[in-house]
Amino acid sequence: RPADIGVYGLGTMGANLALNIAEKGFRVAVFNRTVEKGFALRDDNPGIGDNVVPASTLKEFVASLKSPRLVLFMVPAGKIVDAEIAEVAPLLSPGDVMIDAGNADFNDTVRRSRDVEGTGLNFVGMGVSGGELGARHGPSIMVGGAKDTYPQLEPILTKIAAKYEGAPCVAWLGPDGAGHFVKTIHNGIEYADMQMIAEIYGIMRDGMGMQADAMAAIFGEWNKGGLSSYLIEITAVNLAEKDPETGKPLVDLIVDEAGQKGTGRWAVIEAQKLGVGATTIEAAVSARGVSSRRSERAEASRFYAGIATEAADFSAEAAGIAELEQALETAKIIAYAQGYATMASASEEFGWNLPLGTIAEIWRAGCIIRSQFLDDIAGAYETGGVVNLLQSPAFIGRVEAGQTALRKVVAKASMAGIPVPALSAALAYFDDYRRARGTTNLTQAQRDLFGAHTFHRLDRDGVFHHRWPAV
Ligand code: NDP
Repeated sequence: RPADIGVYGLGTMGANLALNIAEKGFRVAVFNRTVEKGFALRDDNPGIGDNVVPASTLKEFVASLKSPRLVLFMVPAGKIVDAEIAEVAPLLSPGDVMIDAGNADFNDTVRRSRDVEGTGLNFVGMGVSGGELGARHGPSIMVGGAKDTYPQLEPILTKIAAKYEGAPCVAWLGPDGAGHFVKTIHNGIEYADMQMIAEIYGIMRDGMGMQADAMAAIFGEWNKGGLSSYLIEITAVNLAEKDPETGKPLVDLIVDEAGQKGTGRWAVIEAQKLGVGATTIEAAVSARGVSSRRSERAEASRFYAGIATEAADFSAEAAGIAELEQALETAKIIAYAQGYATMASASEEFGWNLPLGTIAEIWRAGCIIRSQFLDDIAGAYETGGVVNLLQSPAFIGRVEAGQTALRKVVAKASMAGIPVPALSAALAYFDDYRRARGTTNLTQAQRDLFGAHTFHRLDRDGVFHHRWPAV
């Protein structure tokens, strides 16, 4: 029996996705640069392995697929994907579909979609979220590209995707780069979520003198409330874990240098290109960058060791903990509003017609940012007429109620010298966004003075240039 789909690339994600597909009853052909991995995948997984069809050569791999062929690439983004497409495309026939399921830069996906035009081949750019376990048991899948190929993919994708109350977390979101763009913003939001959690942890550790165990208990509690989400859940697990050798909290022994593979940065770059202020995501990406300059920070800490900051005014009593919780919830709404504003703007710019409500729906399970909160966002879009989540009736009341807590937490942290770059970026954005009369009237005056860039007036129609005094 020919295989239903082929997976090329059997690293962490590819191998697990292939097993997921095989387990759901589809025959999956597999191929990998290190060829033996395909045979090991079949042999090391009794039962499921019967549906895994390894190949020794690319030609054999392609030949084992039923027509029209579905070839899914799961390799690191960039040149490797281009190289594999160049290898595989000549072996395919019109009607066949190439699927890049890695974390591609959506600009590459747009280019690759254009490249297949006129060849009869189809290209699908598909974001997959959920890490190793997600790939194995149910990821969230964001599909973009040739829409008429989606009915071919759908039976497999709906079976392997995560389910939220029975609904599969997968959807076709738009042409060419739409799926990878949405995955990029997903990751940008993930960066913001993680950074804001780390900032609250910083307040607990440095402002309240709390130990990891106590913090784990609080995050565990928060996971039962409005913040209930995978990232809060794993934070509790991270904080509770002990190093088997020393018995100390493992988190206390981990070096404070964060890695990144680029999707957060892409989110920020695309937001900037679109003129959207995704400042909370920006702050999160920058904070990882600063963290990676560890020795430089150690030097700087010596120069400024004498700075007198105020004693932290945080309380570990119930009210103090509730204030942190509410601040985090409020900043989270603002961060997601920025991510959604970026998608809304991209949708308009690229003519994608992104289904923003559906995106919230397919993020409710399987992916790293999965949470109860996404159901609220889905609900807001279902009601319709959402200009920005911060103007949605579903969130206005919550932000109104929570902004004082966010303000207090940011102010107290600032006075105590505890950095909260993402929380304060969220607050600053909110205050800027809700202000009918801003301050860029002055910016425009400056631009007009030094560059004759012109300005508009509040009291008259038209475009004006003023003869400012010479400076
Ligand atoms: P891995 O590093 O685990 O696997 C990489 C795969 O690519 C292996 O099959 C490897 O082959 C192959 N490969 C590497 N270099 C080359 C090359 N030069 N030529 C041909 N094949 C090559 O990566 P992941 O599975 O973690 O990631 C795959 C994609 O999925 C990436 O785009 C990643 O960003 C994305 N992703 C990853 C997630 C994660 O949690 N890990 C989550 C969501 C998306 P070999 O076995 O021979 O080395």
